[in-house]
Amino acid sequence: MNKKIAFFDAKPYDRLSFTEINKNFEFDITYLDAHLDKHTAHLAKDHDAVCAFVNDTIDKNVLTILRDLNIKVIALRCAGYNNVDFTSAYNNVHVVRVPAYSPYAVAEHAAALMLSLNRKTHKAYSRTRDGNFSINGLLGFDMHGKTAGIIGTGKIGKCLIEILLGFGMKVLAYDAYPDNAYAKEKGISYTSLDTLYEHADIISLHCPLNEETTHMINATAINKMKAGVMVINTGRGALVDTPALIKGLKAKKVGAAGLDVYEEESEYFFEDKSIEMITDDVLARLLTFPNVLVTSHQAFFTQEALHNIAETTLNNVKEFFDGGHLINEVCYKCDKPCRKKEKKRCF
Ligand code: NAD
Repeated sequence: MNKKIAFFDAKPYDRLSFTEINKNFEFDITYLDAHLDKHTAHLAKDHDAVCAFVNDTIDKNVLTILRDLNIKVIALRCAGYNNVDFTSAYNNVHVVRVPAYSPYAVAEHAAALMLSLNRKTHKAYSRTRDGNFSINGLLGFDMHGKTAGIIGTGKIGKCLIEILLGFGMKVLAYDAYPDNAYAKEKGISYTSLDTLYEHADIISLHCPLNEETTHMINATAINKMKAGVMVINTGRGALVDTPALIKGLKAKKVGAAGLDVYEEESEYFFEDKSIEMITDDVLARLLTFPNVLVTSHQAFFTQEALHNIAETTLNNVKEFFDGGHLINEVCYKCDKPCRKKEKKRCF
């Protein structure tokens, strides 16, 4: 009998891409609109696997319910796994993910945010459609010759560096595990975070969210930055202390912010809330700034990425049921996401 997958938080585009790729796998997929949380986890009853996404809750309560339902594998259809409580998953549930599906997609979106905020195309779009052809207030700057600070030089960070070098930007990089050979080859420099903050005109975040990086962009970090700096976050929302960012924007220390992710995004992102009021005052405040561009966690959202996500996710589930080596298993031997895991799994 075909293995059954309970597919949480299924959007129309997920259904299309997974249904197409599933022709090669023939799983029995139940697409569920609901987010995965302690109230919905029981919907996985009579299934063999769960498929979840970035804003699903995979905490102790959920893992207990899934374990009782005899679910042995959770297939994350994303790269990040900060929403999983590994202490509870340990020994019970295997967690697989899609470590890379298109670093180009995310890097290109980060570049799109930079260009929009710099040249204010998001404002120009509304102006010209309203018959306003004035260019007052739309002044930008040449990217050429400016300094980009890239935090996290993994797959996505490196793609973005290529793009920004193409603009003629200088690149300062910071990574907990610097790739010095790469830096030498590309003519870029690794530096301390303080030096990066001091010199970068644009700062873009591409490191994972973990204990070390939570709220790394806080009031102290912002104080060290250049006046007028542009901050781009396509990593994870909680890399940024949003109230501190708002203070920085109000003080004009931060000149612009492009946010594809937001710490409290799970209530809003991916959903149509256009006929409701926004009760999150921090998000509402962010949306009032002309120099803030919020996108709804869409950096990954390209045709190529969706294809690769579906293929790798279903292949991860197949590997599990075939009893083979789980190449994309998230390290679960540690109580918490560990530093080691960034370079090699510790099991
Ligand atoms: P990656 O694992 O290839 O690269 C991450 C890099 O961060 C590595 O070089 C690692 O050494 C470095 N790093 C680890 N800890 C660090 C620290 N404390 N300080 C600085 N650097 C540190 O990952 P990737 O594929 O490039 O993805 C990066 C992040 O982007 C993911 O963790 C995920 O949260 C986010 N992401 C967002 C989207 C989106 O749609 N917005 C899509 C995919 C990934």
